[in-house]
Amino acid sequence: MPHRPNRLYLSSDALVANWRALARLSGAAACGAAVKADGYGLGAREVVARLLDAGCRDFFVANWAEAQAIADLIVGGDATIAVLHGVREADLPLPDLPGVRPVLSTPAQVARWRSVAPGGECDVMVDTGMNRLGVAPAEIAAGLLDGLTIDTLMSHLACADEPGHALNAVQRERFVALAGRTAARRLSLANSAGIALGADYHFDLTRPGLALYGGVPVAALAGAICPVATIAAEVLQCRTVRAGETVGYNATWTAPADTRVAIVNLGYADGYRRALSDRGCAFARDAALPVIGRVSMDLIALDISAADVREGDWVRFDDDPVHVAQVSGVSQYELLTGLGRRFARHWS
Ligand SMILES: *Cc1c(COP(=O)(O)O)cnc(C)c1O
Repeated sequence: MPHRPNRLYLSSDALVANWRALARLSGAAACGAAVKADGYGLGAREVVARLLDAGCRDFFVANWAEAQAIADLIVGGDATIAVLHGVREADLPLPDLPGVRPVLSTPAQVARWRSVAPGGECDVMVDTGMNRLGVAPAEIAAGLLDGLTIDTLMSHLACADEPGHALNAVQRERFVALAGRTAARRLSLANSAGIALGADYHFDLTRPGLALYGGVPVAALAGAICPVATIAAEVLQCRTVRAGETVGYNATWTAPADTRVAIVNLGYADGYRRALSDRGCAFARDAALPVIGRVSMDLIALDISAADVREGDWVRFDDDPVHVAQVSGVSQYELLTGLGRRFARHWS
């Protein structure tokens, strides 16, 4: 494999510390892990291996291909993987993956599961007000789930990252009303932000995703969560841009004075968003190196006035997802899941 010009440094300690913090905040509830979208872009296999070691037993993916990609990691143990998009017609015949089960979310999926896996254990998603995936509480009341072997009955909060939003309590009440109406062994409602809503929202199992990976969806989690992923890139060229000259596409940045500039191996094709043009920041040790001009597909220009940066040096980028989301206007979720495939990934 040729040497890659940019890197993603990933911290096992930070990932595990975040899961432990979320497990602690989940109180008596078990704490799972959403590892869909390849572990939010960090690498589902690496994430699952580390969280299994830490004691996590409940993993969530979007589809069967994502389940298949990690299923061997749970063989022989007591962990399970829930497939959030359930069983579509096109998923049949289902791959034989021990410990993997669907989260059924429509009456058609329930019927399909009854016919392809009679008595088979499943989870069920109920819609309590988000109007995304899920069966309706009225359908449950009418007997839709009767006789089904359900491990976890779950619902998803639309506004957990707005603690004061009235819909949180509405969804919780609709969910509580279903307790005892099904044979479900466990109830689960909270994602990362939902955990911070408090014990009333924890039920038996929590399902954090974003916060595991260093994202902070609500201020209440700020002190508990640390960054997991840091981007670094190599300097390809250094130059002095004379006062009045411009840098990059569309000449959006004009040098106010003669300025030392470094061109580095990172761009929007790596997930370094174009919205960070003239706004992002890299660091050489503690010296801040502002992004100047447009972010290109594979290249970025940095103002290196503050540090002695040379061709071949490596610089690292701002790894605080809250801060990067703020300056770019791009959500922490999109920043993480948008990380490109060209990084050399270094887990420590
Ligand atoms: C993605 C997802 C989660 C995790 O949400 P975060 O906000 O990333 O913590 C939990 N539950 C369901 C159903 C999801 O789709």
